[in-house]
Amino acid sequence: SYEKMQNIWATNIISAFAPHFKEPLLIHDGKMQWLFDHTGRRYLDMFGGIVTVSVGHCHPKVSEAAAQQLNTLWHTTNIYLNPKLHEYAAKLTSKLPDDLKVVYFVNSGSEANDFAVFLARLHTKNSDIISLRNAYHGMSYVTMALTAQSSWRNSLPLAPGFHHTMNPDVYQGLWGGSHCRDSPVQTTRHCDCKPDECNACDMYYGQLEEIFKYSLRAGNLAGFFTETIQGIGGVVQFPKGFLKKAYELVRTNGGVCIADEVQTGFGRTGEHFWGFEMHDVIPDIVTMAKGICNGLPMAAVVTTPALAQSLKGAYYFNTFGGNPVSCAAGLTVLNVIEEEKIQENAHVVGTHLLKKLAKLRDQFECIGDVRGKGLMIGVEMVTDKETRTPLPSNHFVDIWDDCKNMGVLIGRGGLYHNVFRMTPPMCVTREDVDFAVGVFEAAIQKHQKVF
Ligand code: PMP
Repeated sequence: SYEKMQNIWATNIISAFAPHFKEPLLIHDGKMQWLFDHTGRRYLDMFGGIVTVSVGHCHPKVSEAAAQQLNTLWHTTNIYLNPKLHEYAAKLTSKLPDDLKVVYFVNSGSEANDFAVFLARLHTKNSDIISLRNAYHGMSYVTMALTAQSSWRNSLPLAPGFHHTMNPDVYQGLWGGSHCRDSPVQTTRHCDCKPDECNACDMYYGQLEEIFKYSLRAGNLAGFFTETIQGIGGVVQFPKGFLKKAYELVRTNGGVCIADEVQTGFGRTGEHFWGFEMHDVIPDIVTMAKGICNGLPMAAVVTTPALAQSLKGAYYFNTFGGNPVSCAAGLTVLNVIEEEKIQENAHVVGTHLLKKLAKLRDQFECIGDVRGKGLMIGVEMVTDKETRTPLPSNHFVDIWDDCKNMGVLIGRGGLYHNVFRMTPPMCVTREDVDFAVGVFEAAIQKHQKVF
């Protein structure tokens, strides 16, 4: 029963999280963009199991492929050749630029980034790793150090050699002060550039230069990690050109560039299959997880033959990486993305959703910013548009909870936990997102007078 489950959650499950929402939600089953609770009530899933259900809950073709593989071969580990592993590796690498053709299979985003740290250090024989403020790269004990949000880092000594510099958050700005070089008002918290248009934000790049000049020992750079849109950090998009310049600086200093595509990969951003494509850069290492397998455990690190070569003579192993059932499902996810034009749908429906949310932003004082690409959208909630002060948590949760009560599940993120994240399964339709926006509007309307 529902009560029994609540009890088990409280006593038998280790979790740093309280269940989402005021009353815990018991999800019993899912179908494409819909989730159903224990009473059979239907919810539109606008979060996709944290950006993971890419082509739809229990997508029939993916379920069928996994079921077939379950009756064929479950596991050997990668000490033997296995047709699904090889077919999948070939298909997955065909989705990347030519030079990125060697894949190492792991089981989670954290493990993928952990391996990327290892590879970058092994290849360069250096140890310093740079990541950006707001970054989330995982919760293994090494990636906890790579992750740059204090709330995720715990009060413990973390792995050494990790450095964080400012992220180009065009909306909240640098250190809460103006970040735009030629902004006329240096005392404001922000400039009014849109990420795609903001060419004046060299300050962020300047911050990166600073860390090279003043914090790092010369000649000791191993790698530079970024998401290509920051996800948990609050759907933060980087100004045009930032990543390209950063990659040049990193490579000049002997480091390799790592793109964490755990959230942004597999067509999520609509126009591009990989987020790095929108920045016009080619990373040396790409890490991927989440949407890769529609919710089954699977993750991968793809790199160049030159970097992969540095693994010769080193030891690295995991038992489950490249599991045949996950490979069969992952292969089918890639086919479904092509056959059902999932990426195009993310672009079209995502653009529509972004426009509708932008209208709400113009209507409500508490919606400070609407941003994102494809079906990776963030809505930053504030007390007022002038100060951009993050909306206090209790108000945020009121809206969030009411959306749930009206049948729409949304995600949460941001440095101040004040960003609604909309990242539904990419099979979602225009009608679905119209429904979601209607519910969101009604929830805000209900609560706006108390802000
Ligand atoms: N990188 C990014 C960008 C993520 O969002 C996450 C998970 N939210 C991870 C890495 C870690 O992935 P996992 O939880 O599968 O370990």
